[in-house]
Amino acid sequence: MRFDALPLVEDTPETRPRIERRAVRRVSGDTTFYEVPARTIIDPVPEAAGLGVSWAVSPYRGCAHACLYCGARRAHRYLGLDGERDFGSAIVVKTDAAKRLRAELASPRWAGEPVGIGLSGDCYQDAEKVYRLMPGIVAALRDAGNPFRVMTKSALILRDAELLAQAAEVAEVEARVSIGFVDDRLRRAVEPGAPSAQKRLELCAELGERGVPCGVLMGPILPCLTDSEDQLRAVVRRVAEAGAVSLTPMVLQLPSGSREWYMRWLAEEHPRLVPRYEELYGQGSLAADDYRLRVVGRVAELARVYGIGTRRAAWQARRSADRQLALL
Ligand code: SF4
Repeated sequence: MRFDALPLVEDTPETRPRIERRAVRRVSGDTTFYEVPARTIIDPVPEAAGLGVSWAVSPYRGCAHACLYCGARRAHRYLGLDGERDFGSAIVVKTDAAKRLRAELASPRWAGEPVGIGLSGDCYQDAEKVYRLMPGIVAALRDAGNPFRVMTKSALILRDAELLAQAAEVAEVEARVSIGFVDDRLRRAVEPGAPSAQKRLELCAELGERGVPCGVLMGPILPCLTDSEDQLRAVVRRVAEAGAVSLTPMVLQLPSGSREWYMRWLAEEHPRLVPRYEELYGQGSLAADDYRLRVVGRVAELARVYGIGTRRAAWQARRSADRQLALL
């Protein structure tokens, strides 16, 4: 279905959320889309987010996967929406994202740094089936030879595998699938709209086969729920078997905006863990340093044991060889 086939919604009184005052609103089933022009499209990422990139391209805000812990929930409040109830069903769509991106990439002020895509809403969530923003975004980055990383949990990324593979020939490009744990019962509770870990592992393998380097963000690792030696080892082993080119561990973060929902769920489902979480997080969003560094260090060791990372070196070597040949 094309987006302009979705019904337009009439304006509502002044009690409406802030985003509605500047957006075209369309509905599809339980989801409301707020179409807006992008004021900017390459936005800075705070270092505290720990995402390993300084710049983000966010064609969507809000995410149908509706992960309980998602740090992007807070931004929904700034739009006048509810970070809990609306986050998975009220999706802001920057309809001119690709055009705006081409303009910003061509600006003399842009230094060509790596950008992360999909940090404030999965860029291959169901909305992308309707709006098809990503082909234009990937093509703009490919044409500019700009390095980038696409974060997703969704197999829809395979639709753009050829474009992504082309981009990977001219710049450092990585698809990054997030898989924090492989317990499907837990996944249904905290990532209710996301595919199973098994499907994401298969996605990682298929991207690699189709010429798109795919790494795994092993996150979030949930304290006392998915951080045992056996659980960490099981994830790392399966990620290695899927042929991931990198593995980046991330312990659960609890910034204000997602902390409330996660802690409420924890109190309902695992009340005996609440004191331990209060001890680990205090009033901050990061778990205590000693815990975090221990878990991240252990995952890094396991990644070495299972040989993750060696494929990244092979991709890089192949691309530089191709470039040398092209220069002859
Ligand atoms: S898939 Fe990513 S962006 Fe979407 S809700 Fe989950 S953590 Fe947030």
